[in-house]
Formats: sequence, C-alpha cells, structure tokens
Amino acid sequence: MADEFGSRFAAPIFERVAIIGVGLIGSSLARVIRRVNAAGKISLADYSSDVLKRAETLGLGDTYHLSAALAVNGADAVIFCVPVGVNGEIAREIGGHLEPGVIVSDVGSVKVAVIDAIGPHLPREAHFVPAHPVAGTEQSGPDAGFAALFANRWCILTPPEGTCVEAVAKISRLWGSFGANVEIMTASHHDLVLAITSHVPHLIAYNIVGTAADLEEVTRTEVIKYSAGGFRDFTRIAASDPTMWRDVFLYNREAVLEMLGRFSEDLTALQRMIRRGDGDGLFNLFTRTRAIRTGIVSLGQETTAPDFGRRAGGR
Ligand code: NAP
Repeated sequence: MADEFGSRFAAPIFERVAIIGVGLIGSSLARVIRRVNAAGKISLADYSSDVLKRAETLGLGDTYHLSAALAVNGADAVIFCVPVGVNGEIAREIGGHLEPGVIVSDVGSVKVAVIDAIGPHLPREAHFVPAHPVAGTEQSGPDAGFAALFANRWCILTPPEGTCVEAVAKISRLWGSFGANVEIMTASHHDLVLAITSHVPHLIAYNIVGTAADLEEVTRTEVIKYSAGGFRDFTRIAASDPTMWRDVFLYNREAVLEMLGRFSEDLTALQRMIRRGDGDGLFNLFTRTRAIRTGIVSLGQETTAPDFGRRAGGR
C-alpha cells in the first residue's frame, strides 16, 4: 500500500532495527520505520536517560537502552544517529555484540571520517552501508522528529568498495519507503558536494549572525528589529545544533577549507565589483544565482512560496 512516504511493507524488511541516538534524526527514523512497517521491533539507545524516558512516553520504540551494546542484541539492522564525533567510540562498544550478517548504517552529515571511525570496529560478517539523509531542521531531540522528514528529500549512500550489493539494495529500499530519493556516490565526493551545499552555508550563517551579535548595542537592536531583510533566514540556520555542527567542521575539515577558499576568492571578486561600480558584473551574477534557485524549485526541493525563513528546510 502506498502513502505519502512511499510504500508500506506487507511484511517488515528487518526483524529488529536498533537506532542509536534518539534525537531529531533518530526519532524521525523510529517514527517512519513504524509508519511503513519496515521493522518488526525497534530498539532505541541513547546515553541520556531523559531522552530515553521522553522517547518511551512518545512510544517511539519497543525497547529502550542506556547501553548501545544491549540495544543491538538481536538486531539485523543498526543505525547510528549520533553526532559525527562519537561514532567511533560507539562502534568500539558494540562491535563485539553485533549479530552475524547485521547491516550497519548511519546518518552522519560527513562520510569519509565516519567510515574511518566505524569501519575498523565492525566484525567481518557485518555489512556497512553508510547513509546521509539530506533532510533536517534546526531543532534537536526526540520531540523535534517527524515521520515525513525524509519524504521527497535525497538520501545519499556511500558504500565502500566491495560492500555486499544485497545490503545496499536493502538500505536503498528502506529509504525509498520513507519517500526519499536515493543516490549512491563515493564518500569523498559526498563530502565535497555537501561542503558547498550545506557546510559552508552554515558557516556563513554562523559568521554573519556572530558578527551581528558583536555589534554595538544600539545597532544590535536594529538588527533584530529589521531582521526580515534577509538576516532572519541566517538566524534560523545559525540556531542549528552546536554539537552537530562543531563535529561537521572538525571532521570534514579539508573539503570545507577547500570550498571556503573558493568562496573567499569569489567574495573578493564581488568586493571589487562593488568598489569599481561594476553594475553589469553584479547583475550578471545575480541573474545566474536566481537561475540556480529556479532549478532547485523545479527539482521539487523547494517551493516558490515566499516563507521568510520560517519553514524547516533540507540540509
Ligand atoms: P540530535 O537531535 O542532537 O540527536 C543526537 C542524539 O544522540 C541526542 O539524543 C544525543 O544525546 C545522543 N548522543 C550523543 N552522544 C551519544 C552517545 N555517545 N551515545 C548515545 N547517544 C548519544 O542530533 P541529530 O540532528 O539527530 O543528528 C544526528 C546525526 O544526524 C548527526 O551525525 C548529524 O550529522 C546527522 N544529520 C543531522 C541533520 C540535521 O539537520 N539535524 C540532517 C542530516 C543528518 P544528548 O542530546 O543528550 O547529547
């Protein structure tokens, strides 16, 4: 049966899925897995007992664990949904507790570093299919999640060479059933593409909001008052989770620095156009950038409705 998420499985494709980290992404996954009947049972793990209690109140899983090693017991799929920087230590903790033939996946916004962190701790008979749903909001925690988060968004899989094709197909089917469009690429290409489409834009937002925050008091009041003029869109992005984004920049350092170098050069060129009164140069650039926006809308990743930054976006 199809609904807005894609297909609902007549029989679950996994017997038990263990989700480690029950925040925005982990709780959205738990909700949509239940919704499309992708797993017979859902085990949830988080190192915060408050988060687990809240998840239990929301009825997100079947079992709740402070220990990730206990959560993976009997699981034929394990999905890491924690900040990029802690994947390695969790993989070390659960590596010896994984079931034979288990499929391990993740949702990290950075792929090369996460593969390097998790891979070495997995037993040979585990199948590792790294994933990144390019979907999110600036909110965190189990209350922030919702089942439709991944619908009509991209999910990028970056299976290392030699990964079992059946495992990749199963994870593709899983994300497809959430209504996501699945794409496969290498981890290093993913990191470069996401550096410019997601990571550098976040850095720019953090920077501009930080600059405004450091302005003199009288000017700062006006910044808030007149924020509809573009600044408010940046504040939404700059309100994103500090732990998550600290890790993105620490673990995708090279790609971000490379893209930041290009960005700085282009910014210098823009500065020059303004200084020289090069109206044609500015007009031509702004015309090209407008076409990019039109392209994003025509791919269904955004609508033409003006929203002044109030709606949640993909990431
Ligand atoms: P989140 O809402 O902060 O959730 C992360 C959860 O993991 C929190 O409950 C956190 O607990 C828990 N956690 C942290 N360290 C842990 C550990 N060692 N053991 C067990 N649980 C632990 O973050 P999120 O937005 O869901 O992000 C999770 C992952 O998804 C990140 O890798 C991120 O790169 C990726 N991602 C995020 C987005 C987005 O827009 N947010 C989009 C795509 C992918 P505490 O809160 O108590 O620390």
